Amino acid sequence: MVGKPIKIALAGNPNSGKTTVFNALTGSRQYVGNWPGVTVEKKEGKFRFENHEVTVVDLPGTYSLSAYSLDEKVARDFLVNEKPDAVVVVVDASNLERNLYLVAQLLELGAKVIVDLNMMDVAKSRGIMIDTQKLEQILGVKVVGTVASRGTGLDRLRRMIHDIRKDEPPPGFRILYGRDFEAALDGLSGLIEEHGLTRSVSARWRALKLLEGDATELKLLETNPDAEAVRVELNQIRTKLEHKYGYDVETAIVERRYGYLNGVVKECTHRKPGVAGRLTMSDKIDKVVTNRWVGIPIFLLLMWGTFQLVFKLGDPLVGYIEALFEWFGGVVSTTLASSPAWLSSLMVDGLINGIGSVLVFIPNIVILFLVISLLEDSGYMARAAFVMDRFMHALGLHGKSFIPMIIGFGCNVPAIMATRTLESRKDRILTILVNPLMSCSARLPIYTLFTAAFFSRNQGLVVFSLYLMGIVLAIAMARIFKGIFFKHEVAPLIMELPPYHLPSIRGVLTHMWERASLFVRKAGTIIAGVVVLVWLLASLPWGVEYASQASIIGKIGVFIAPIFSPAGFGNWQAAVSLTFGILAKEVVVGTMGTLYGVGKEGLTAIVSGQFTPLSAYAFMAMSLLYIPCIASIAAIWRETNWKWTLLTVGYTLVLGWLVAVLIYQVGSLLT
Ligand code: GDP
Ligand code: MG
Repeated sequence: MVGKPIKIALAGNPNSGKTTVFNALTGSRQYVGNWPGVTVEKKEGKFRFENHEVTVVDLPGTYSLSAYSLDEKVARDFLVNEKPDAVVVVVDASNLERNLYLVAQLLELGAKVIVDLNMMDVAKSRGIMIDTQKLEQILGVKVVGTVASRGTGLDRLRRMIHDIRKDEPPPGFRILYGRDFEAALDGLSGLIEEHGLTRSVSARWRALKLLEGDATELKLLETNPDAEAVRVELNQIRTKLEHKYGYDVETAIVERRYGYLNGVVKECTHRKPGVAGRLTMSDKIDKVVTNRWVGIPIFLLLMWGTFQLVFKLGDPLVGYIEALFEWFGGVVSTTLASSPAWLSSLMVDGLINGIGSVLVFIPNIVILFLVISLLEDSGYMARAAFVMDRFMHALGLHGKSFIPMIIGFGCNVPAIMATRTLESRKDRILTILVNPLMSCSARLPIYTLFTAAFFSRNQGLVVFSLYLMGIVLAIAMARIFKGIFFKHEVAPLIMELPPYHLPSIRGVLTHMWERASLFVRKAGTIIAGVVVLVWLLASLPWGVEYASQASIIGKIGVFIAPIFSPAGFGNWQAAVSLTFGILAKEVVVGTMGTLYGVGKEGLTAIVSGQFTPLSAYAFMAMSLLYIPCIASIAAIWRETNWKWTLLTVGYTLVLGWLVAVLIYQVGSLLT
């Protein structure tokens, strides 16, 4: 017999382990990152438990239900409108008071709640002992302790989820806000009920939100003609309370809620003497890593080290893959010797050379992903963002912006999505505008090809300089845009630093695999498609010499190329590669492979005949900075509007060209 389906939502503060719980429950592999704000969209998964199908919705991490930021809004809309059977709140047990704030708000909303005290291991190591039974009693909800990363306690959580439907609704949880506020709440909720404005939630909750000055609720009130009386009463009450307390009502309510929770935490926890107050290992490392003076140098050093690894370890492997593709091309030409010449050309000149020239860099890419995964998972990347926050703040920029920027090292598309964690729309737009300047992994094949050709002894250093150029220009442009479009103050970042932990091998390998397989899939789809197009344009009109200036693509290239002459790479193949590279940056290399051919000595050797070290560096800078790829453009459009999108496309093109020309011209003067 199949039981009734159950739908639950997972809520929790950012970085409480929500996604880890979600993955453990549903067996899916969502992205788990050791920093706040990785999950920005809700995800769904399912599991079965004793004939019940349970649907789990992973909501974005939120600190509260106040809908300040986009992901708080997503979470709240879901809870208010879709009414799941229960909400499992994943709580970071090592940071109980702050995490319980969301629990309290959910209980006030009248949701059926299960509290998952996660990170019990971390709490324990800090000497925090939690009495879960007492917590159950005080809050009137089920509480279970888990260590999600090790799977401990999850069976009990599953059973609780299964059982909750049989339970009665939670006994009316209530925080008392003191006499004046209670009177105000009573008056308001009476009016709300009288005018039939409760809809799906309780009158007290609506009244509370209105008193807090919640934007969503106020808007509902404004647009409702029946709510006139409530509006008038609300304004009177707020003025009265503000007058009496001398500060705004919202702060007063938040403080009272925290006051209550502070009491709850005191009741339910005790600290093991000796452990508390002692500096944990995390604290000790943080003293160095986030130090005011050496924090940024350490970050740069780690980045530099990363690229040393990427090339020192990767390059020998690249040789093997190159040989493999060369052999494969040879076999295919021989096999197709008796078939029409165009077919053999399509296979070898087009597909194998084109895709092959991108895929040979798999070793470098995999190593880069491996290191990034390690740095993320261990908790270091969150420190990097923290360190940069101080620096960016000095420039009047929001440090939280640096998290999307670091994510941009992998791919700019999720990075642009990650800006949803920023509270203000201005900060979001600012961060989105400059994100394409962060060097994503698709640029790595370009760097690898050109540094192998011209800077073989200092590959790591040269590529490091390009990444740095991206960061510096992103910060500079953000500063400029802020001056032009948004003259506002920024709030300092209150960022929690997650504890360090040894990254799990499985987690790191999963991340690495996901990213690497995406790269290969991209090569097999979009890059293959573009490469065939390039091949076709290089073969037409019929009878023309393949990839010569007389071909269609040659003519296009010759037409565009003069634009790039001042930057030192005025050859038509470079112009065409950049043009098609807008579709995906890997295509720059793929196009070169198709047009130049790979030959006996490999693409590297051919490229070294076409560029000089200086023009190669200018070309790499151009590839880094100019117009973002189509996928990023689409993401920017989705997250903002066409005006900002056009601005991004326009300014990146101009910036890329200017920087490339500057490098080439100044460099030529010096050498
Ligand atoms: P989310 O932001 O709430 O989705 O958090 P994630 O699921 O991405 O987890 C944040 C980090 O905490 C990851 O590095 C997890 O591996 C780690 N983590 C999750 N649960 C536990 C736990 O119970 N104990 C410890 N020590 N780490 C955990
Ligand atoms: Mg998450």
